[in-house]
Amino acid sequence: MPVKQHAMDSSDKQRSHLKADCANCFGLCCAALPFAVSADFAVDKQAGQPCTHLQTDFRCGVHAQLRQLGFRGCTVYDCFGAGQHLSQVTYGGQDWRQTPDRAQEMFDAFPIMRHLHELLWYLSEALTLKPASGMREALSEALDKTERLTRLSPGELLALDAGAHRAEVNLLLLRTSELVREDALRRYPAASKRRKTYSRGADLIGAKLQGADLRGANLRGAYLIAANLRGADLRGADLIGADLRDAELHGADLTESLFLTQAQLNSAKGDASVKLPPILSRPAHWSSR
Ligand code: SF4
Repeated sequence: MPVKQHAMDSSDKQRSHLKADCANCFGLCCAALPFAVSADFAVDKQAGQPCTHLQTDFRCGVHAQLRQLGFRGCTVYDCFGAGQHLSQVTYGGQDWRQTPDRAQEMFDAFPIMRHLHELLWYLSEALTLKPASGMREALSEALDKTERLTRLSPGELLALDAGAHRAEVNLLLLRTSELVREDALRRYPAASKRRKTYSRGADLIGAKLQGADLRGANLRGAYLIAANLRGADLRGADLIGADLRDAELHGADLTESLFLTQAQLNSAKGDASVKLPPILSRPAHWSSR
């Protein structure tokens, strides 16, 4: 029995609303967030300072050349739909250029909303996972509570202890992960004989994991930067918070990976041979081979 349905179910459809819709956002990530000169950004920018490439219509003026111009970080970032929610729901279509006296408030609220939307992404996924069906009530309650928090007024959002809410949700996600990974190890006995186990935040930078059987592995918060995961089997592996920057995913099976996000995929290297969950998209910059 697969860990989750391959066709998109209602929770997956709900998750499709948790994807960035830049056409309905007032360029919040391009103004609110700071960045520093690095492999990901060509220039320095302070928080609250609009990027010089952000046009008056809130579109990026260099969208088609981001990677060539050194803005790789912009092609990786994903707001989980927080930008359009804050723009259209919280602020009812008022943008920070029309109402400059509220600009700082909007910029401060943006990371909090993103935080909540990221939790909605994980909780919605958890609700699709059959081994965690016994947790459906608790997960649904947490999802409802998180959705209610996204409807707070700007002032209430700024006063919210988002860290405390995240800690509550994390306990549920952790238990969900345990149930799903235990199920994966039962279904794949060969994986349960794997000697290697990983603790949270494992240092796997540049690790040679080509063809590795990582089914049901705990890779929560693992540093997999530039790891060779070519042909690895990651079904049932928990990847929440794993750093996949420049990890090589060619031929890897991620179809049933847990808590994988579009931003993680965007930061990795891959091609048409990577097997993806249906909810996620193949990054445009991956090679077609
Ligand atoms: S380069 Fe484009 S996408 Fe990146 S911050 Fe500037 S306007 Fe936004």
